[in-house]
Amino acid sequence: MNYRHAYHAGNHTEMLKHATLVAVLAHLGRKEKPFFVLDTHAGIGGYDLRSEEAGKTGEAEGGILRVARADPPAARDYLALVRGFDPGGALRFYPGSPEIVRRTMRPQDRLVACELHPADVEILRAALRDDPRVAVHHRDGYEAIGAFVPPPERRGLVFVDPPFEKRDEADRLGRALAKAVRKWPTGTYIAWYPLKDPDVPARIAAPLAQTGVETLRVELALRPLDGTLVGGGLAIVNPPYTLPDFLDALGPQLLDAFGARATGAFRRDWIVPPA
Ligand code: SAM
Repeated sequence: MNYRHAYHAGNHTEMLKHATLVAVLAHLGRKEKPFFVLDTHAGIGGYDLRSEEAGKTGEAEGGILRVARADPPAARDYLALVRGFDPGGALRFYPGSPEIVRRTMRPQDRLVACELHPADVEILRAALRDDPRVAVHHRDGYEAIGAFVPPPERRGLVFVDPPFEKRDEADRLGRALAKAVRKWPTGTYIAWYPLKDPDVPARIAAPLAQTGVETLRVELALRPLDGTLVGGGLAIVNPPYTLPDFLDALGPQLLDAFGARATGAFRRDWIVPPA
C-alpha cells in the first residue's frame, strides 16, 4: 500500500466530498433516533497541513486554503466545521472523514471506521480512542460493508472513499456498493471517485443503476480530462431530498472559488431518478 492520505488532505477534490458529507450528516441528525456511519476507507482522521507530507505536494493550497479564502456561502457549515477543527483557528489542521463524522454525531450515534494501512490505522486509533461512540477496525473496507450492513439502527450512512491505486478499484467499489444497497435499500451511501480515467464513472454507475434504488451523481472538474486528477465525483444512494438543491448551489460556487468557471464543469444528474 503506497497511498498515504497525508499527502493529499484538503486538496480540491475533498471540498465537494466533505461538504456533501457534512450536509448528509446534518440531515441524519434532524431526527432524534440514532444513526450509524460506516467509514470504509477512513485515513488517519486529522491532518497537519504544515507537515512534511503536505508540504511536498502543496495540494491544500489549491483546495481548502483557497476555498476558505473565497468563503462560498453554500460551504458555510462545512467551513465552520473545518475551522473549528484547528484550535488556533489558522486552518493548519484539516479534519478527515472520521473527524467530520465525529463532530456531527450525537451521544446516541455510532461510527465504525476502517483503515487497512498498518501504520495509518494506529494513528487513527490513537486519535479516536477516547470516544466511546467510535470503533476503529484494521480491515478491508469492502469486507466491512458486508459485515456491518444493515446496521441495527436502520438509519445511517456508508461512506466509501478509496485511494484508486488499483486498476480494478472502480469495479470493486461498484459491485460492493450495489450488493450493500440490495441488502440495505433504505441506507444512504456516498462513494467518491476520481475524474482522471474516462471509464471510471460509468464502471461505478452501471452496477448502481441495476439496483433501481434512487441514486444521485455529482461531478466537479477544474478542467477537461487530461490524464491527471482534474476533479472528483460522488455517487449518492438515497440522498436527502434537500441535497440536489444544496449541490446545485455549491457546485458553481466551488468553481468560482477555484477560479475555474471558464475551464471547469459542474454536473449533477441521476443514475437512478426518484420514483
Ligand atoms: N476518507 C478519508 C477522508 O475523507 O479523510 C480519506 C481516505 S483516503 C482517500 C483512502 C484511505 O483508504 C487510505 O488511508 C488508505 O490507506 C485506505 N485503504 C486503501 N485500501 C483500503 C481497503 N481495502 N480497506 C480500507 N482502507 C483502505
